[in-house]
Amino acid sequence: QSSSLKDRVAVVTGASSGIGEATARKLAREGAAVALFARRKDRLESLAKTIREEGGHARVFAVDAKDRPGLAEAARVIAGELGVVDLVVNNAGVMLPAPFEAHHLDDFEQMIDVNITGAVRIVDAFVDPLVAAAAKGGRADLVNISSMGANGVYTNFAVYCATKAAITHLSRNLRAELGPKYVRVAVVEPGLVETELQGHATDASAQEWIAQARKAMTWLKADDIAETIAYVAGLPRHVNLERVTVVPTQQV
Ligand code: NDP
Repeated sequence: QSSSLKDRVAVVTGASSGIGEATARKLAREGAAVALFARRKDRLESLAKTIREEGGHARVFAVDAKDRPGLAEAARVIAGELGVVDLVVNNAGVMLPAPFEAHHLDDFEQMIDVNITGAVRIVDAFVDPLVAAAAKGGRADLVNISSMGANGVYTNFAVYCATKAAITHLSRNLRAELGPKYVRVAVVEPGLVETELQGHATDASAQEWIAQARKAMTWLKADDIAETIAYVAGLPRHVNLERVTVVPTQQV
């Protein structure tokens, strides 16, 4: 086990699959104690077991991104059991693309509530320990997971792309607030990554777009993004890699 994140206390949301799962495992391998957030408790328990078998430290919090009291309670438990959180990977998200004329308003509201409001709730829950960790002279990182979609135009992905544009802009503005206090704020914008994300789309035209994109290029793996996040968090304290877009080589 290397130790570039030794003594760090990390929160990873959306840790039950995909990018969050790979990131939690990577951060734990680098020495961080990790608090695993998502709804599916069985998946989190299984990941925690794997991390412990690899010599790491993990604690499970089965909390919905919409559950404000649940998030506040988790933050209290972490402060008592793991210590001061100095690394937050704000990753939980859903992608439910569809044309507006198909009237998937429930899906659109779900994306806004999880991708934007859920991310804001996590910042609210952990901003105090991040500032406290930085004030003590240590590294402190908020890493928000946006998407390449924040910067582009993709037919039928309007609401998803809008949620991710919000995360990118939230991150840049949060830097103005927290950077002077020595809290680094980074936004990571992945292109297509092979995870469970695409499987939740119910709209046929969206599914077709995803199937075509899968045929057209080699997608990123969740581990590719986990490596990026660990790199960002492992930089010297005075270096803030503020915005990283990681795409499959063939994706344009
Ligand atoms: P996955 O579907 O594999 O993971 C999504 C995670 O979010 C799961 O752990 C899920 O856990 C969690 N989640 C979803 N809804 C909620 C909720 N209501 N409350 C708490 N947790 C929730 O997808 P990815 O790993 O691909 O996605 C991770 C992030 O990366 C997302 O923000 C996504 O937008 C972004 N991204 C992904 C790309 C890709 O191509 N895969 C590209 C660009 C960005 P559970 O269901 O157990 O609650």
